[in-house]
Amino acid sequence: MNMDIDNIKNYILYLKFLDEKLNNFFKAQSPYIFCHKGCGKCCKNALFPYSSVEVQYLMHGFGKLDVETQNIIQNNIKKAAQDKENSAENRYDCPFLINDICCVYEYRGIICRSFGLVTSTEGNSKVPFCAYEGLNYSNVVDTENNTISLEKFQKLNIKQEPLSYNIGYNFLTSEKVEKVFNFKFGEKKCLIDLLCDKK
Ligand code: SF4
Repeated sequence: MNMDIDNIKNYILYLKFLDEKLNNFFKAQSPYIFCHKGCGKCCKNALFPYSSVEVQYLMHGFGKLDVETQNIIQNNIKKAAQDKENSAENRYDCPFLINDICCVYEYRGIICRSFGLVTSTEGNSKVPFCAYEGLNYSNVVDTENNTISLEKFQKLNIKQEPLSYNIGYNFLTSEKVEKVFNFKFGEKKCLIDLLCDKK
């Protein structure tokens, strides 16, 4: 039995389960969602928490790309590692983003799949940063208080209210998930550090 293959197979089963849930959430929140192909804002200037199994699957997607694209990504990885070093907040652009499009979309990690909704962690709601840039929830955001404005929501006259979801990265990658789906996430670090470890 190959533990690595079984581990990744069960991770993929979890991704299917998660995708279905997230698709329903995004559908329910559609009046507030302005994600579109070619945006790429959430793929830049961030930390990107990832785990070993997520990177393994991401690199499986990388392996399916043509050599030219792989070379661009390899150079992007070097640049991202440098940018992270030079950034006070350890930020960098995701190396898999080329011309504002994700080259490994089908293989992307959990943070990439769940970003864009209002998240609720231990009772605190967090509006996605893109709300402040004219994107998701920008039609209902209260920019002064970093929350959802009841007044703006009521003015829109939309039946579906803006909701927050318990989809923080730590919750979606918890030990409970590992137990239920029978796999291990492995080491958790920011994406660029895991990519550099692999070299
Ligand atoms: S893996 Fe794809 S979706 Fe995730 S941050 Fe990178 S470019 Fe964006």
